[in-house]
Amino acid sequence: AKANVTQTVCFYEQAMDEAVRANRALANDLREAVENGQLDLHYQVQTSVSTGDIRGYEALLRWKHPTRGNIPPIEFIPLAEENGLILPLGEWVLRTACAKAASWEHPYKVAVNLSPVQFAHADLPKLVHEILLETGLRPNRLELEITESTIIADKNRTLTILRRIKALGVTIAIDDFGTGYSSLETLRAFPFDKIKLDRSFMSEVETSPQAKAIIRAVLALGQSLHIPVLAEGVETHSQLSILRAEGCNEAQGYLLGRPAPFGEIFALMHGHNGI
Ligand code: C2E
Ligand code: CA
Ligand code: CA
Ligand code: CA
Repeated sequence: AKANVTQTVCFYEQAMDEAVRANRALANDLREAVENGQLDLHYQVQTSVSTGDIRGYEALLRWKHPTRGNIPPIEFIPLAEENGLILPLGEWVLRTACAKAASWEHPYKVAVNLSPVQFAHADLPKLVHEILLETGLRPNRLELEITESTIIADKNRTLTILRRIKALGVTIAIDDFGTGYSSLETLRAFPFDKIKLDRSFMSEVETSPQAKAIIRAVLALGQSLHIPVLAEGVETHSQLSILRAEGCNEAQGYLLGRPAPFGEIFALMHGHNGI
């Protein structure tokens, strides 16, 4: 039995080593990805539930690896956060998204995701300010999306940074709302301009009375705090009808539009691809 255990541990360690090696290789590839133009942003529409009007677009990072094909952000962003690459990467995302949005004829918002690591290490308000000046994007057209993990890291520091960013005229959304641990306290203490209700609630709204009750409760909370609520992951007309009946402000999801390359989004807006 002892030999078996040793063997199992050995296999396990081997598998671990391989996973670590694979991650290291991927992290190295990622270093070159920015320079080699393998990274791209796709944009997903955010619309008003009551009128259907476009309100903005969320920028979502895409990596087209030369041999492994498309790698989803949930696989490479954690790596980039571990090795610090998220700082140049996040800066590239912010600069690119702002520059592209500045080229739209319509004053739609552009929403950009921020990693907790960007809060911990960079002078974020200064960077945001510089990028706005450089790209000429009006500050009120930029929305930054943060998650609860950002807040938990260092509450006071995060609050100070958020206040400085908001002073520029930029708005802040709390992303994946309802999945963290301190949601209600977070809403009280932080100056959010939008609540993005996590898509796990939407996927169960028709089958789980609990999910529907939570959606209702968050919408009521948003109303009494005067914070608009956006529902993520809207995939069907019946989900959208429920949101309309419940008074949700905005929606985002495959039903309204899948994330698409800038050229396609620009063509839809202007009738040509802007390149
Ligand atoms: P997120 O910020 O919650 O982004 C929404 C995710 O839901 C996107 O996945 C989007 O493609 C997907 N989605 C949109 N509508 C639907 C729908 O109707 N149904 C379903 N099932 N999914 C939908 P994606 O693009 O794979 O991004 C995953 C996560 O990676 C993002 O979640 C965000 O946390 C992170 N991420 C993406 N781009 C960036 C970035 O530039 N910076 C940082 N720090 N994180 C990013
Ligand atoms: Ca987001
Ligand atoms: Ca989200
Ligand atoms: Ca998410």
